[in-house]
Amino acid sequence: MSNILKKEAFILPEGVIYLDGNSLGPMPKAVAARVQTMLTDEWGEMLIRGWNGAGWMDQPARVGDQVARIIGAPEGSVVMGDTLSLKVFQALAAAIKLMPERRVILSDTGNFPSDLYMAEGLVGLLEQGYELRTVAPEDVAARVDETVAVVMLTQVDYRTGRMHDMKTMTEVAHAKGAVMLWDLAHSAGAHEVDLIGSNCEFAIGCTYKYLNGGPGAPAFIYVRPDLAETIEPALSGWLGHRQPFAFDLNYKAGSGIDRMRVGTPPVIQLTALEVAMELWADVDMAELRAASVALQEQFIAEVERDVPALTLASPRDSAVRGSQVSFRFHEGYAAMQAVIDRGVIGDFRAPDIMRFGFTPMYLDAADITAAVKIIADVMNNDLWDQDKYKVRSKVT
Ligand SMILES: *Cc1c(COP(=O)(O)O)cnc(C)c1O
Repeated sequence: MSNILKKEAFILPEGVIYLDGNSLGPMPKAVAARVQTMLTDEWGEMLIRGWNGAGWMDQPARVGDQVARIIGAPEGSVVMGDTLSLKVFQALAAAIKLMPERRVILSDTGNFPSDLYMAEGLVGLLEQGYELRTVAPEDVAARVDETVAVVMLTQVDYRTGRMHDMKTMTEVAHAKGAVMLWDLAHSAGAHEVDLIGSNCEFAIGCTYKYLNGGPGAPAFIYVRPDLAETIEPALSGWLGHRQPFAFDLNYKAGSGIDRMRVGTPPVIQLTALEVAMELWADVDMAELRAASVALQEQFIAEVERDVPALTLASPRDSAVRGSQVSFRFHEGYAAMQAVIDRGVIGDFRAPDIMRFGFTPMYLDAADITAAVKIIADVMNNDLWDQDKYKVRSKVT
């Protein structure tokens, strides 16, 4: 697995064991110098000439191809831009237009709230009798019927790590004539994804989690190639136009996935992401997944052996778990703050979830053992039971 562990390629502060790469990946070392060069040599020296001369305008497609490789999508089927919440809206708006006689958007209660909020916003805007229906994750398959226009799911539950089977669920949706939209926020860079094999129509995801693109890194969108020339973009911005620089007064969708571009790309962020994505060029996703599962199994075994206060909240079966492990504890917030204070960084999700992410590119077995030792010390000696750990910050 020589091409998986690349600890030396990341900035990892001394004394920190980072189990939160599922929320914000660490900075690859090569990013700072490359962004600096982009700023001084490109923006600084080339000024507006950088759009052509430094390849800024093609960057959303170029980086899209880097992402495509690790999610089982063909070249030219993924483009970068905006944030994931915007991509939910964009993909969903295009998806419902494919099934104009149906009115139900089906999702589950394990979805990330922003995805549901964006769907609510779209439903409210349309005022055409659309309904967002959310059911328990285990009930989704049974609740797909001929009224459902789109099944919109996040593959891996952000709290528990429970994972939907993409291929099976997509088949269920298609069997009832519904369109399938997958959110890969906790999948891209976490485990193998086979978009072409799944046959789903749309997929979206973010790049600041497992892909280490940095805070605010742009999202990606995939449209199945046979649909990319016909879907109708609701966010019809000029860079999705067939000829942006013709400055036509009317919108004409661009060719293929380009039509999912909206406005000016975030070049500084994309530059950081492009460098971060280079670390994935030689990664075999099956090997990465195997390494992730090994770390997770070790973590669960050691926590259950040494920390009786914590109850596993994630599926025990690694086949249906993403790349994170969560435990429940009634004072989970304070406990996580105390653990972070001692250098083990995970995070907390209300109401009682202590969440730990596993990223074999910069974590090894020794890190897991060291982390569990600290967690055990905090939990078994009630070190979390102090006022300073109970004051909630804005970001948990
Ligand atoms: C992280 C995450 C988001 C965040 O959306 P942004 O617009 O990038 O803030 C949305 N949906 C899911 C499923 C996520 O995991």
